[in-house]
Amino acid sequence: MSPALRPVSSAAPPQRPRPRVVVVGSGFAGLNAALALAGAPVDVTLVDRDNYHGFWPLLYQVATAGLGPDDIAHPVRAIFAGHQNVTVRLGIVTQVDVEQHRVELDHGEVLLYDYLVLAVGSSTSDFGIPGVREHAFPLKTLPEAVHLRNHILTAFEHADSDRSAIPEGLLTIVLAGGGPTGVEMAGALSELIGTNLALDFRHLDVTAARVVLVEATDRLLGGFSERSQQEALSTLRNKGVEVLLGAPLAKVTADGVTLADGTDIAARTVVWTAGVRANPLASLLPGEKRRNGTVVVEPDLSLPGHPEVFVVGDVAAVVGGDDRALPQLAQVAIQGGRHAAGSILRHLAGRPTRAFRYRDHGIMATIGRQSAVAELPGGLKLRGTLGWLAWLAVHLVFLVGFRNRLVVLVNWAWNYVTWDRASRVILDD
Ligand SMILES: Cc1cc2nc3c(=O)[nH]c(=O)nc-3n(C[C@H](O)[C@H](O)[C@H](O)COP(=O)(O)OP(=O)(O)OC[C@H]3O[C@@H](n4cnc5c(N)ncnc54)[C@H](O)[C@@H]3O)c2cc1C
Repeated sequence: MSPALRPVSSAAPPQRPRPRVVVVGSGFAGLNAALALAGAPVDVTLVDRDNYHGFWPLLYQVATAGLGPDDIAHPVRAIFAGHQNVTVRLGIVTQVDVEQHRVELDHGEVLLYDYLVLAVGSSTSDFGIPGVREHAFPLKTLPEAVHLRNHILTAFEHADSDRSAIPEGLLTIVLAGGGPTGVEMAGALSELIGTNLALDFRHLDVTAARVVLVEATDRLLGGFSERSQQEALSTLRNKGVEVLLGAPLAKVTADGVTLADGTDIAARTVVWTAGVRANPLASLLPGEKRRNGTVVVEPDLSLPGHPEVFVVGDVAAVVGGDDRALPQLAQVAIQGGRHAAGSILRHLAGRPTRAFRYRDHGIMATIGRQSAVAELPGGLKLRGTLGWLAWLAVHLVFLVGFRNRLVVLVNWAWNYVTWDRASRVILDD
């Protein structure tokens, strides 16, 4: 019989199972890794403890009533609705076993993988300062931002009916840490108190309220140029923020803070924006860790000895020749997530992976209305209104979801025209 006449078997050829990629974390790094793998010949499972992607650079605006919590969060399932090869799973990863290629979730489910992308971000570190954990408000998650907003608004409600606790710090807010979050929070709080709360509580003398920013080093915005640091300092002081430099915290209590030089500041609200360390899951991985718990990775972002495991974003230490790790920034995480996805696809194609090269997009921080500092690649530095407009544009572009962008834009326009920080609602938390 000629080969052309040979009967054709009706059975389909056995399908080779597609490689399974588990991505843990739908933050900047994990989301971008999964997006880069959507449509590729792999089956992706994206796991997160929350059902949304959170845009943390605007978290302080939720805490200061400028935006609502769901303005800066986008449901992950909606992002991947059109992508057949991406499955979304809600759950907390509790175990990672890189020898057995398995990840365990809190509800008992086990996910087996051929490739793992670990992108679980960072968590708050108290630097061992007594009382931070018990008495200070962290600002790393949406529930924490809402909790802080509730607390501040409730303090003003209490002060309105009973002024006796004001000298004891009822209306004093201490912000610990003069990095971008502390500076942005201080500027926004002074505007919230000086405009909206002054009108809302017209029988209360809101000038009795204090916003105190304490920073351990002798400058704000470490990592920015001296000129930007000075701009932030003078703008905040002009807004009435008390900025204390070279003032490390010694302890936090329910009644306030004590600085290292023994100064006591009575405050019922202490916000901790100072320290982060790697997510505790990092400690489950073998290999070298930095002092802040981050996992030292290979140049292609894989875990040493495990070319099938990639560690990206805040949880990774991408160490350069000068022994300095890349900063914990959204852009580092976004680019790292995409790079890890590219490495997986190269690996599957039998091609060597490439070293990760971070493209620096610059740094920026807003100090309040019409005031920001932006330091862009090529040495371009913007300040004041120009810096502020650049800050607004960049944050709108990187916010995920058209609805979120539109709502945030409308909110900002409303706030600009009316001075109204409209989300002054106390939610039951
Ligand atoms: C208040 C604040 C302001 C910031 N402002 C800026 C800024 O202006 N510019 C800038 O560049 N960077 C800023 N950053 C830093 C930036 O947000 C981070 O560098 C970036 O989010 C890191 O991305 P990531 O994917 O590593 O982590 P994340 O974006 O934090 O994502 C981690 C994800 O992992 C999930 N997860 C954690 N543990 C588990 C677990 N056990 N199981 C399942 N899921 C888990 C989390 O729910 C989260 O979705 C800011 C951060 C904060 C907190």
